[in-house]
Amino acid sequence: MHQLPIRVLPAEHESGHGFVLRALTRNGLNFSRAAAWLNLPWKTAIRDTDVRQWSWAVRVDSDWLDHRIPSSRQHEGHMSYGFMGSRWRGAHSFRLRNPQVCTACIRERQYCSATWDLMGVCLCATHRIHLTDTCFHCRKPLQWNRPGIDLCTCKRYLTHAAPQAPVDDRVVRWVEWVSMRLTEIGPFAHDPLLAGLPPELSIDGTYKVLLAFGLKTKEHEVLPATVWGRALIA
Ligand SMILES: [Zn+2]
Ligand SMILES: [Zn+2]
Repeated sequence: MHQLPIRVLPAEHESGHGFVLRALTRNGLNFSRAAAWLNLPWKTAIRDTDVRQWSWAVRVDSDWLDHRIPSSRQHEGHMSYGFMGSRWRGAHSFRLRNPQVCTACIRERQYCSATWDLMGVCLCATHRIHLTDTCFHCRKPLQWNRPGIDLCTCKRYLTHAAPQAPVDDRVVRWVEWVSMRLTEIGPFAHDPLLAGLPPELSIDGTYKVLLAFGLKTKEHEVLPATVWGRALIA
């Protein structure tokens, strides 16, 4: 067993899974073939217990990859997950089993952003288009075990539906705020859109409040209760 011959360098704020996929496909492999070669099981995503072997295989610092793969641990009596330096309450906060991409970003810069691995992120604030989690051609959900970051398992290029449904400016601001919190170190300005929420609330906590109540559109608005999966993130 050898490390991969062609070394790929990580990009800034790149997804851990996206990076490993990019490194594997540069070397003519995919996740399931590489897992068999490393004698690791493969289901849908990298297990946090296997990060060291994957980082060795693709020749990247294991702390760098560990930072970008959700890792579970018992914290104050319940399971929590570490991802990009923040804590998250449950595995349902992540999109790792059903990855999503901005097809325009992928075409332009050829790597996946770590923010796309979050359930609460549904669009690209740069291109103002919804993220794609289903192949436009074969209609199957995207997988990490695909032949390239810009290719579906059906071997056709990932593309988004056209015309696109219009994006909501408030959701763009939410995604911008999440991206900033996820990737920047130090104090953050609290977005006025989230006025009234304690600034020390985590990204995960803020997301759950938004799921429960939605977003204010004007001052002193009384927000109706919403239900999981509806309302803010359509
Ligand atoms: Zn984009
Ligand atoms: Zn397809």
